[in-house]
Amino acid sequence: TDQPHVAFSDGHEIPQVGLGVWQTPNDQAASVVATALEAGYRHIDTAAIYGNEAGVGEGLQRAGLARGDVFVTTKLWNDRQGADEPAKAMDESLKRLGLDHVDLYLIHWPAPKAGRFVDSWKALVQLQVDGRATSIGVSNFNADHLRTIIDATGVVPVLNQVELHPRFQQTALRAAHAELGIATQSWSPLGQGQLLTDPVITKIAAKHGRTAAQVVIRWHIDSGLIVIPKSVTPSRIKENFDVFGFELDADDMAAIAGLDTAGGRIGPDPLKFP
Ligand code: NAD
Repeated sequence: TDQPHVAFSDGHEIPQVGLGVWQTPNDQAASVVATALEAGYRHIDTAAIYGNEAGVGEGLQRAGLARGDVFVTTKLWNDRQGADEPAKAMDESLKRLGLDHVDLYLIHWPAPKAGRFVDSWKALVQLQVDGRATSIGVSNFNADHLRTIIDATGVVPVLNQVELHPRFQQTALRAAHAELGIATQSWSPLGQGQLLTDPVITKIAAKHGRTAAQVVIRWHIDSGLIVIPKSVTPSRIKENFDVFGFELDADDMAAIAGLDTAGGRIGPDPLKFP
């Protein structure tokens, strides 16, 4: 499918829009993933902790696409961080997914109190060398965490997946990413649905004859972000991918810029979690 990709510093690339499957039950994951791939998605974002890697793997199988045509991300859970555990955790994920490699493997949270993210990053560097992960990255890292792992290994994560939506735009962190050559991926891109009734968003949606979800997803795309909206509803899965036929204008972008607030975070603070 003809759709935008974002280039990684390691030479690979990622489809800019993917399907998130957090809170998608394992027994629904296969049909959700198959529906998404049918609608044109070529990028699925799961994690060991989501408990649905097996369902995701079944959906990939059902869709019957060539392996090289689908981009699959999974993540290392906090209790498997360290020097030796990540390789074992990754093999367990691959087995559940029914794959021999993922396109992207992420450290899910820095979990700074446990103090094992540098060892974990060294382990991921090895997983990329041996081909079990084509690319490696992180999630929920701040600029200090990023500099720490880069200084320890010389290996720059291809992306950092962080909470990011119009009410929490992460401007400072995005500037650090740009400086370090790290792509930004937005989790909870729709603010877990809370943004879809915001009058600023619904007004822009009415202007373009689009839905609120499509406007927010388009804002991520036009901001150069990689975006992974979640839905289990087939009509919404399709709607969320039907975003390539319009663009936001400067007035729309300025209005959405004004939605950023200091208290806009919905999920946990990565310095305190877990
Ligand atoms: P989201 O912002 O994608 O919102 C999803 C919710 O929005 C849905 O449950 C539904 O209620 C609503 N919705 C979706 N499409 C809609 C539509 N077209 N019309 C109306 N309502 C709609 O929330 P999310 O699931 O938290 O985030 C997306 C993905 O990000 C997750 O599935 C997961 O893959 C990833 N994620 C990662 C982390 C992390 O720590 N790395 C944390 C949270 C989420």
